[in-house]
Amino acid sequence: MNNLTQYKIRKLSYYVIVFACYMITSFNAQNLQAQNQSYTVVLDAGHGGQDPGNIGLKKYVEKKIALNVVLKVGAILSKNKNIKVVYTRKTDVFVDLWKRGSIANKAQGDLFVSVHCNGHTSQAYGTETFALALRGNKKNYEIAKKENSVILYEKDYKKRYKGFDPNSPESVLGVTMQMEDYLDQSILLADIIQKDFTHKLKRKNRGVKQASFVVLHQTFMPSVLIEMGFISNYSEGKYLNSSAGQQKMASSIARGISKYLNQESLNTVKEVVPEVKTQPKSPKYFKDVVFKVQIAASKRKLKTKPYNFKGLKNVSRKKVGKMYKYYYQNTTNYESAQTAQKEAKSKGYTSAFIVAFKSGKKVSVSEILENSK
Ligand SMILES: [Zn+2]
Repeated sequence: MNNLTQYKIRKLSYYVIVFACYMITSFNAQNLQAQNQSYTVVLDAGHGGQDPGNIGLKKYVEKKIALNVVLKVGAILSKNKNIKVVYTRKTDVFVDLWKRGSIANKAQGDLFVSVHCNGHTSQAYGTETFALALRGNKKNYEIAKKENSVILYEKDYKKRYKGFDPNSPESVLGVTMQMEDYLDQSILLADIIQKDFTHKLKRKNRGVKQASFVVLHQTFMPSVLIEMGFISNYSEGKYLNSSAGQQKMASSIARGISKYLNQESLNTVKEVVPEVKTQPKSPKYFKDVVFKVQIAASKRKLKTKPYNFKGLKNVSRKKVGKMYKYYYQNTTNYESAQTAQKEAKSKGYTSAFIVAFKSGKKVSVSEILENSK
């Protein structure tokens, strides 16, 4: 290749890279901004103060690595103005497990993410993310026991945790479930995080697991506990203790959280309304009446583009109270509305139903059909 060609290629690749960077940085921010929704993410660096957590080879210390990563995750997320970050600790201090949950609840967090490092006598390695579980298995119990044993550092733990003994399986696995409602979302978040670790960072995937962690029990929001890897493993310990490794782990966790929040913001709540039972032998067209198919209702304001609605075109939005209602099609022909309803159902909006509007006001479909007889 001659010099000029090389120069041109270099110049071109410069523009490609600049453009790519612009696209990447603007993508996530735009996505959340479009929905005009703000989220509070509570970041919890495991251990701290007199509780060092696991201590790996070469004196790698869990509490330090966890804090470094958490601060980096927070710095990345804070760049998105729709995300508010709350930390349970920002320095090397001891915080009760009880207090961590209370910080998260007071902040009315949408998510609780606890960050830890594993340790083992073997050369085991890999990442795993836990969602709170009703029951855990024996192996997960050992990890839960270790993470929960921090309670023994707390002054009045006997009073506070009411007979909870971190050394007894019955206690650890039998803590009253308060968070069942959030389990699905916790598993979803754990899965997104594990996938990013595996595919983007090429870390060994030990999977999404369920166990009973006190710190997760105390929070009333989707919550996960990340074990970023084993500081007892020679190479993983080195990776986790390095600032480059910590930066990668932090970017991965932040990406996972953003992805989860974006999915969450697209989640629509279906409204179930009884269907009109009697099929009318009525005229097809109604004067002054518009039929639409309601496909979803949500607190979130979504763009009415096909990509937000499983490919359906001609979706409209109406604000009703605090909710946004989303309608498919717009017709004065009742049969066309029925066809549209079938279409919406086939796309996955199984509880889609027909609604009618007369001079802009919502009216009962059955009444309209009844009156036309
Ligand atoms: Zn830990």
